[in-house]
Formats: sequence, C-alpha cells, structure tokens
Amino acid sequence: MKRFPIILSAPSGGGKTTIAKRLLETRKDVGYSVSCTTRPARDDEKEGQDYYFLSTSEFLAKQQRGEFAESAEVHGNLYGTLRSEVERVLKLGQHVIMDIDVQGAMQFRSAFPESVLVYVLPPSGEILLDRLRGRGTETRETLKRRLLSALVELQAVQRYQYVVVNDDQIRAAANVSRIIDAEGLRRERLQNVERDVRSIIERLELELDTQSEGD
Ligand code: 5GP
Repeated sequence: MKRFPIILSAPSGGGKTTIAKRLLETRKDVGYSVSCTTRPARDDEKEGQDYYFLSTSEFLAKQQRGEFAESAEVHGNLYGTLRSEVERVLKLGQHVIMDIDVQGAMQFRSAFPESVLVYVLPPSGEILLDRLRGRGTETRETLKRRLLSALVELQAVQRYQYVVVNDDQIRAAANVSRIIDAEGLRRERLQNVERDVRSIIERLELELDTQSEGD
C-alpha cells in the first residue's frame, strides 16, 4: 500500500499534538515529520525531535531554496515543513503524521495531493478555553493572539475531509487510526489491484473457454 501524509489541524489547544504522539506510540507504520520554526524552544522541547529551531535568517534561506513543502506565519512565528522530512518518512514505509496549521495544510495538499486532512475539533468552547489557559506558558498577549487565531482556524473546518471530536484523547486517536486504515484501502493507494483483477478475469475467461469447448 502506498503511504501517505496525514495532516492534523485544530485550533491552538485542540489536543492534536497528543493525538499525534499517541499514534506514533501505537502504530509502527506512522512516522513524524519534524517541522522548522523560528519560535524559541519551550523547556521540555528538544532540537530535532519536537522542532528544528531556526533563526529567522536560517528559515528564510531554506524558504528561498524551496526546501519547504509549506510554510506559514503562526502566532507571529514562522513554521515550515521540509520536503526532505516528509520524503524521508515515506521512504521508510511509514505514513507521515503532521501537526500543521490551516494555512499550511492547504499549501501542503498542493505539494502532496494524496494527503488526508483531519480536523480535530474541541468538544466545546469552554473546554477549548480551559486548554488554552491551562497551557501555562502563555502571557496575556500570546493567549489573546492564540484566541484570535483559533477563531480563524475554526472557520476552516469545511475544507477538511474528516472531523474528529477530541472529547477523549484515546478515542480521538483511535478514530484517526481508523481513518488511516480506511484511507489505506482506497483503490488508488493499493499497489497490485489491476494485476490482481486481471488475473481473476483471466481465470474466469479460461473457465468460459473451457465450457464453450465442451458445448
Ligand atoms: P506550537 O508553537 O504550539 O508548537 O504550534 C503552534 C501552531 O503551529 C500549531 O497550530 C501547529 O499546528 C502549527 N505548526 C506546527 N508546525 C507547523 C508547520 O510545520 N507548518 C505550519 N504551517 N504550522 C505548523
């Protein structure tokens, strides 16, 4: 089966990172594309694992060289997905799970049209607010910026193929896993369908020939 990218988008605090982590823990056929960003690393984040943390000039140089499959400014920082990262994971025989914002998702789909787009919806406004406040790493200013971009990101849900409500992270990750399995069975992703169907047809035709010889 051909492997494909799975894009998870959600308003900030929607819980998509946890879903992506869970899928990476539970499925060997899923790998992660590490993005580049110009935002500073948080205390618990590691270079090359959570992100490649770049200066603005390093980021812009990569952008100019066409190294990004998509890039966007999110909450005042630059983020981008390296084509080489996506291709590295696909070559390993894994689906690529990506946690990218709405603008980036649309650009990415133009670069990789076989991508599957999943929108992770928080179960309610109150819960989204709690999650945004609960992060604890935001200043008043950045929290306000995140709220405003969440409003914009919520409008984009119509452009996604699937919606998963994140009322329970285990259930939500299981639903994304089902989407991956079902998408993997699409005819165009299966490698030997034409050959297999031809071989079945040949067998039936042979049977018909044998029968008409007996008539
Ligand atoms: P955070 O800084 O909290 O890790 O992520 C902030 C936002 O940036 C999230 O909505 C996340 O999905 C988005 N993001 C992370 N990586 C990328 C990327 O490579 N490209 C784009 N367009 N958005 C990204």
